Amino acid sequence: LRVFMDNDVNLMTLAEARIGAAKGAKNAFCLTLGTGVGGGIIYEGRLHRGISFSAGEIGHIPLGIKGPKCNCGGSACLESYVGNRFILKLAKKKLGRRARNLTLEKLSKLAKRGNTIALDIFYDYAQKLGLALTAVINLLNPEVIAIGGGVSKAGGFLFAKIREVVKDRAMPIPAKVAKIKKAKLGNNAGILGAAILVKESL
Ligand SMILES: [Zn+2]
Repeated sequence: LRVFMDNDVNLMTLAEARIGAAKGAKNAFCLTLGTGVGGGIIYEGRLHRGISFSAGEIGHIPLGIKGPKCNCGGSACLESYVGNRFILKLAKKKLGRRARNLTLEKLSKLAKRGNTIALDIFYDYAQKLGLALTAVINLLNPEVIAIGGGVSKAGGFLFAKIREVVKDRAMPIPAKVAKIKKAKLGNNAGILGAAILVKESL
């Protein structure tokens, strides 16, 4: 019996690249926004894993010289600014009493209704994510960036802001071709990716 394995984000990336939001793209980047922030790279049509299987770790791109300590041992990592836990903690602090039983869904509802505190939190979020994606775009020149996971459901305003940051900060030639899209396959992406991995490995 032959066994094939890979991590969840790489499998999601493979699925999005073959049948999802990045279908047809030879060069693409997928990321998932959750407690952690993971990413996967499609390079010239294939998953790019790196020499020790750790390519694509966008969550650990440092956004500054000093910043919060991260689980990876580094500091000021993207993940420590845009991970779900960080966002909720920040929102609870800023919203005070209104933050009782706060979830990301509730926070995005507040933003959609025009609550300025919630909007500020998402705008800052988009700034940080936009900077990390600027690095990805300048480095990899991808055709599609597919974003999945909880916060990606926040809505059009978050995507619009991310695109604005990227347009402003990334080099014009790679920025022009990089389409930033919502991932398509949701929670099924991992299992679909696993099936695709086996099919393509046999
Ligand atoms: Zn880190």
